Amino acid sequence: MVSANRFSERSLIIGRFQPFHNGHMDVIRKCASESENLTIGIGSAQYSHECDNPFTAGERYLMIDETMKDEGITNYCIIPIEDLNRYSLWVAQVRSLSPPFSKVYSNNPLTRRLFSEAGYEVRNSPLYNRDLYSGTAVRKEMLKGDGWRSLVPGKAAEVIDCIDGVQRLREISGGE
Ligand code: ATP
Ligand code: MG
Repeated sequence: MVSANRFSERSLIIGRFQPFHNGHMDVIRKCASESENLTIGIGSAQYSHECDNPFTAGERYLMIDETMKDEGITNYCIIPIEDLNRYSLWVAQVRSLSPPFSKVYSNNPLTRRLFSEAGYEVRNSPLYNRDLYSGTAVRKEMLKGDGWRSLVPGKAAEVIDCIDGVQRLREISGGE
């Protein structure tokens, strides 16, 4: 039997990462530096090719993984997590997919409530220039032109270029 303390320095953070942007990177850098190991959960993993969710879980995985490697951060793992649409079971689903963890970083009130009810330590994750860095803002810039490039890590931009991601978003948005 492994003691629960064994995992006291392991943490979890969850986002949709549509796409992975500089705000995500800033908070993940901080959380990873405070943790022995950080699980990065890719939420709503089943969605792709939608205006609000243009990228697949695998594409988002690559954006995060290539950026972390580029930054020299190694104490992380990435897991895709599909929506269960049954909140009372969601923590159990996350726990079944992730390596053990005891701390959760989130600002989302529902996520915070669900994990604290399940006995996890929940911490606020600091926001970095939220007016500029949000997935919604990046997707809007992608529809307009090239302004999105300064909002995402260089390696994430490389992945987006490689999969022709901006053109995909423009086509599925139908000019909206
Ligand atoms: P969207 O606009 O598509 O909802 P988002 O920017 O809110 O995108 P999500 O993919 O929904 O990002 O992920 C949410 C997670 O990312 C939360 O933990 C949130 O605190 C964190 N996050 C989002 N933007 C920032 C930011 N600018 N600085 C730090 N953390 C951020
Ligand atoms: Mg969001």
